[in-house]
Amino acid sequence: MRRSVGVLFSTALVTSSLFATQVQAAPEKYKDVRALLANLAARFPAHAKVVSIGDSDAGLPIEGLAIGQGPVKNLVVATHHGNEYGSTEVAKALATSLAESPILGQTIYVIPVLNTSGYDLRQRWERVNGSYFDANRDYPGPCGGEGPFKLKSTAALARFMDQEQIVSVATLHTWSPAVVYPWGFSTHDLSTPYDDLFLQLAQAATVESKYQVGNSSEVIYPANGTFEDYAFWKHGAWSLLFELGYTHTPNDSAVKEMIRVNVPGIRRMMEQAPRQRAEKHEFTGTCDLRLKMLDRHDE
Ligand SMILES: [Zn+2]
Repeated sequence: MRRSVGVLFSTALVTSSLFATQVQAAPEKYKDVRALLANLAARFPAHAKVVSIGDSDAGLPIEGLAIGQGPVKNLVVATHHGNEYGSTEVAKALATSLAESPILGQTIYVIPVLNTSGYDLRQRWERVNGSYFDANRDYPGPCGGEGPFKLKSTAALARFMDQEQIVSVATLHTWSPAVVYPWGFSTHDLSTPYDDLFLQLAQAATVESKYQVGNSSEVIYPANGTFEDYAFWKHGAWSLLFELGYTHTPNDSAVKEMIRVNVPGIRRMMEQAPRQRAEKHEFTGTCDLRLKMLDRHDE
């Protein structure tokens, strides 16, 4: 009898400690992210202001922070995939750090959540009229995609790239530790004329994190219709995909570590990136659509 009480007691302890861990690590809602952006704009009115790139299909403005006043305009966007809240945490920390200390000569737009409804539900996909779409397959590309622009969020981001003439882009995801560059779609012709420059930028971005760097298809897997390829292919924007950390569900200490090793790296990438878009950004290779089978839709 005493023994079974003990078992019950320890089970209760385990359950409550698991519950405590979950509560502690529970990520915020999109409204909390918006509140943080408003707070930063209020604290640093000289060089931070809230901007909206347009409304999502959920009817919410997709907000970011414009930080600095420089003529070179760069972009950091997180959470194309709603479940990847660790990337939003890194974007929030980066926005705070840049608001405290902007990069001279640059305006950096930090958008912590692109997929607003997915973020609140902790689900990868973005829902429209009862259908679900992968926002990071919804851009046009030389080998196709799953869109383009089935979602208002991706269309809004594409318009914003064009309107602001964005020069460099960091797009933040979780979960395999890597920083990668184009091309990442269904082709065997993976090189661009700028492989060396991309590699240098990725190395600059990973001094603290020591994440793996390389070509997107080689390090992760090929995927059509991604934002990181679109930004370079369509606009010649210097584009790096960050796969942050080691899990889609980092706890508080893992989030702190992701922030510690990635915020300085993203800043360094922006400091070292060219001040003008790439000239030779067309794709001159051949698509092999059999490679579509390798897209796992999990990063
Ligand atoms: Zn992702």
